[in-house]
Amino acid sequence: MKPCPCCSGKAFAVCCAPYLDGKSTPRTVKQLMRSRYTAFALGGQGDYLLRTWHPRTAPAISAQALGQADTQWTGLEIIASQQRGDHGVVEFRASLIDAAGESAVHHETSTFLREGGRWLYLSG
Ligand SMILES: [Zn+2]
Repeated sequence: MKPCPCCSGKAFAVCCAPYLDGKSTPRTVKQLMRSRYTAFALGGQGDYLLRTWHPRTAPAISAQALGQADTQWTGLEIIASQQRGDHGVVEFRASLIDAAGESAVHHETSTFLREGGRWLYLSG
């Protein structure tokens, strides 16, 4: 079993992989958050990141550029998450090793919107 990069304790194949492959859609804001972290951690998943990014705030770069990882993500901890109707908030801490080889922690509170039944990342 290959553990999922999102630190859920589940196998990648039954955790974030179906979302990245487009076989399934995250039902909760937390699942979307985890799958986007996994996309960043794996690299080469720029199309998924763009697909789950709200058009209003999505970066104007190609999926290929977005999938190029200069950061090594080493862990995810969800601190809190809240879902109210089509609005969601997730507070998380992600550990990483930056381009200079230094360990760091990225602490963010992200907001999400659900449109057409799909959760989208709005801002952090
Ligand atoms: Zn996962």
